[in-house]
Amino acid sequence: MKILSLIAFTSMVLLGISSSAQIASKADQNKLNFIFPKGELGPAENFTGKAWNIGLVENDTVYHTVVGNVYFEPGARSNWHTHPSGQILIITDGEGYHQIKGQPRQILKKGDIVKCPPNVEHWHGASPQTGMLQMYILPKTEKGIVTWLQRVTDEEYSTVNKQF
Ligand code: MN
Repeated sequence: MKILSLIAFTSMVLLGISSSAQIASKADQNKLNFIFPKGELGPAENFTGKAWNIGLVENDTVYHTVVGNVYFEPGARSNWHTHPSGQILIITDGEGYHQIKGQPRQILKKGDIVKCPPNVEHWHGASPQTGMLQMYILPKTEKGIVTWLQRVTDEEYSTVNKQF
């Protein structure tokens, strides 16, 4: 009986935690202006927190370009990574960060456009309070698309003006 009530209590606590995260995520989604559908959840090995991706332009032999949209939930970010031909980001709503290795973290807001140069280690993601909607353009895909690296630590994520 004791064990059963402990299980009941634990599951109530766990349900409570997951539903409050869901409420926060829902509130953020209501606040942001989605142009495209949210898409599919990005793989946990490449992202901390929840990042949703939808492909908009598929890679082909005419354009050699990939275009898509990512919704980073509050606190979510990519791992460190590189793109062999670079990447262009267009922020359409919310708030977030972009950091190139060895440079301070940069704040991103709606309307910002960022170039991540070829083969440069970087990460991007949402602020802790507000999610971020970003379109991405990957050119010259014949050279490749992305090389995934290590996770962005909580220290790297939350430190302003420090060069990692
Ligand atoms: Mn990138």
